[in-house]
Amino acid sequence: MDVLGEEPEEWRDIPHDHTIIVEADEGLEGIEQDWEVFVGDWVNKTEDTLEKTSLPCVLCLADPTIAQAAKEKLWSTLYLLNQHMKGSVHTRFAQLKRAIRVDVPR
Ligand SMILES: [Zn+2]
Repeated sequence: MDVLGEEPEEWRDIPHDHTIIVEADEGLEGIEQDWEVFVGDWVNKTEDTLEKTSLPCVLCLADPTIAQAAKEKLWSTLYLLNQHMKGSVHTRFAQLKRAIRVDVPR
């Protein structure tokens, strides 16, 4: 079997007498430090360090099936607002259920 034929394409231009030296832990030290900083930041994150806002949910405002009280709710952090917007309240199915409740009061 032709061993040279199995080389990755990007190696073909490298002369055959060329020696590539790869250090085992090259670059990993920095990544480890970055990871520690990232985890430390995450662990120390509290409600206080999250980005503050006082925005209403635009999806609630545009939805005729949402109660007025919910439309007036102001979200204290962008994280909570984003979680709400991605959550079950604004699925098509939840909207349909609310629409039926609005049209057919008990
Ligand atoms: Zn909403």
